[in-house]
Amino acid sequence: MIIKNKKETLLVALGGNALIQKGQEGTIEEQFENLKVPIRQIAGLSKHYRVIITHGNGPQIGNLLLMQECCEGISPLPLEILVAQTQGQISYMIESTLDTELMAMGVYTEKSLVSLISYVVVDEKDPAFQCLSKPIGPAYTKEKAARLPYPTIKTTKGYRRVVASPRPITIVEKFEIKKLIEMDFIVICCGGGGIPVIRAGRTFCGVNAVIDKDLSSAKLAEEVGVDIFVIVTDVKGAALHYGQPDEKYLRTITIEQAARYHQEGHFPPGSMGPKIEAAIEFIKNGGKRVIITSLDAIEKAVEGKAGTEIIL
Ligand code: ADP
Ligand code: MG
Repeated sequence: MIIKNKKETLLVALGGNALIQKGQEGTIEEQFENLKVPIRQIAGLSKHYRVIITHGNGPQIGNLLLMQECCEGISPLPLEILVAQTQGQISYMIESTLDTELMAMGVYTEKSLVSLISYVVVDEKDPAFQCLSKPIGPAYTKEKAARLPYPTIKTTKGYRRVVASPRPITIVEKFEIKKLIEMDFIVICCGGGGIPVIRAGRTFCGVNAVIDKDLSSAKLAEEVGVDIFVIVTDVKGAALHYGQPDEKYLRTITIEQAARYHQEGHFPPGSMGPKIEAAIEFIKNGGKRVIITSLDAIEKAVEGKAGTEIIL
C-alpha cells in the first residue's frame, strides 16, 4: 500500500469523567451524552491528524466490582477480565459516538475506525505486586472492609480495595496499531490502561492488577511514534498549589520544570502525578508535545490556546 498522507499523529487519552461526571448517577444515557463533547472535537481533529484514542475505566470497573459484591453464588472475576469487559463496553460507546459525529460532519466515507482489545506487558517482579497502591471500586466502612476477602486502604472516601498497579513495559498490539493508523484508521485501544499480562514463554498470562492509563498511553505513544499526546481530564490543566488560595494553572512548562514541581509535591499519586510522569516519559522518548486539558477544550489545546503544555 502507498501511504499518501504524512499527517501528524495525535493520541487522545480520555479520563473516566468523559463518560461519568462527578455527581452524576452514571446512566448509559448520561454517558453517551457526556461523550459527545470530546468526541465531536476528536472527529473534527481527525480531518487534519491521524488519531488514536485511549480511555480510562475507573467508574466502570468500580460498578462491575460493586455488582460482583452484590451477587452471591457467581464466581468473582479477576481484574484482567474486568478490564477486558470495560474495554469492550467503553470502546463500543466511543466508536458508535464517533461514527455518528463523523457522519454528521460528512467525513464518514474517508474515515474508518476500529477498536482493539489491548494487552499490556508488565514485569512479574515489579515491586508494585508487593506494595499495593491503587484504590479501586466502592468505598466501605472500616468494619465492612475488615470482612472483605481482599486488602483495603483508607482513602478520603472510605476504605477501598487496593490492588497492584505495575508499570507498563510494552503494548502487545503496537505493530498492528501503527499499521492501522498509517492506513488512516482511527484506533481506539489500551482502554483502562490495557489488560495486564506477563510473558509466559511464547504466550501471555493475565495478572490481577490494573495499569495506569496515562502511563500506558505514554508507552503506546512512544512505541507507535505519536507526535502530540493529549491527556483529557476534568480540570483545565496542571496547577501549582492545586485547591489552595494561591492555586496557579500552568500554561507551558519544560520537562525539567515539570519534574521539579512534581518533586516539590504539586502532583499527587493516582491523579495528576501519573499524567505528569507520562508527559515527561513521552517527551524524553522523542515526543513533540503533551497537553493536559479539559473535555471541552481539546481542539483549542491542540491549537496551543488551552491547557498545560509540556515540552522539551
Ligand atoms: P482522570 O480520570 O482524567 O485520569 P484523575 O482524577 O485521575 O482523572 O485526575 C484528575 C484530577 O487531578 C482532577 O480532578 C484534580 O482534582 C486532580 N488534581 C490533583 N492535583 C492537581 C493539580 N496539581 N492540578 C490539577 N489537578 C489536580
Ligand atoms: Mg486518573
